[in-house]
Amino acid sequence: MFDTIIIGTGAAGISAALTLKQLNKNFLWIGPKNLSFKINSAEKIRNYPGLSSVSGKEMKEAFLKQINDMEIEILDKQVTGVYDLGDYYSVLCGQDSYDSKTIILGLGVESVKPINGEIELLGQGVSYCATCDGFLYKNKEITVFSSSKEFEHEVTYLASLANHVNLIPLYKDVDINLENVTIFKGMPKSIKKENKKMLLDLGNNNILESDGIFMLKASISPSVLVPGLEDKDGHIVVDRLCNTNLKGVFAAGDCTGRPYQYAKAVGEGNVAAHSVNHYLSELKK
Ligand SMILES: Cc1cc2nc3c(=O)[nH]c(=O)nc-3n(C[C@H](O)[C@H](O)[C@H](O)COP(=O)(O)OP(=O)(O)OC[C@H]3O[C@@H](n4cnc5c(N)ncnc54)[C@H](O)[C@@H]3O)c2cc1C
Repeated sequence: MFDTIIIGTGAAGISAALTLKQLNKNFLWIGPKNLSFKINSAEKIRNYPGLSSVSGKEMKEAFLKQINDMEIEILDKQVTGVYDLGDYYSVLCGQDSYDSKTIILGLGVESVKPINGEIELLGQGVSYCATCDGFLYKNKEITVFSSSKEFEHEVTYLASLANHVNLIPLYKDVDINLENVTIFKGMPKSIKKENKKMLLDLGNNNILESDGIFMLKASISPSVLVPGLEDKDGHIVVDRLCNTNLKGVFAAGDCTGRPYQYAKAVGEGNVAAHSVNHYLSELKK
């Protein structure tokens, strides 16, 4: 049983992990090992204290060095659900689960909103996680929506299992050239299920039929990931100490609201870590 599980490897998660390491807590940190793609994508960061002008890539290298120097590990997985089991939480990553007394959510914001039918059909033909559910579609037909180039390895993985993949990328310079992958342009409008077949409406009377649909996005709605979590306009509701409405669940960074900035995410990650520390010491009393 972990003291806490941090979900997300952006500025908020990094700050929480560094603080928890200093506080000598037993924590698990889950998210992309290569850190949040947002860190890498900034051309120049000019408003971060102490660094007058730094590129996203330089910032990422500095973060990775600090994480390595402090001997902090990242579990490179995608969390598919967080469940309240009374006096602890179970964090699911596909088939694997990890138990913890507390949770820190540093999930970032979802830039691609769910489409009609997506959340209702989650787990019934719609999946957010290629490595978790890909095997269900061996030799079948699937449709994959991908919001960013960083998911190309997951698309390739799905194509290695499925008979055929309909790929809808939301970005340019697609670097996938496989015989069983057909690329479609457009923005998905809605998803329906009819006679066990999944139907994705791409507009202009273009309906893609398949056995399953993967929506590959950097972040999914917090309240879908954590049932019972209170959110408002897509942001997790927190107080000044980063407490959410769920006991022992804290949130930090872009996922709690604007401004979407490194300094705010780092600050809240630190606050969330201290709140976890305080919560754990109260539990012991
Ligand atoms: C192009 C660009 C330029 C920017 N420039 C600036 C700037 O100059 N100055 C500034 O202050 N800010 C800038 N920002 C904003 C800054 O990047 C964000 O405010 C900051 O990254 C927020 O950090 P975060 O940790 O809250 O979220 P994110 O960086 O979005 O990190 C969220 C993390 O959670 C992970 N995650 C989400 N869901 C799951 C899940 N289910 N399982 C596992 N992991 C999950 C994601 O993969 C990611 O690792 C810029 C952003 C962009 C995109």
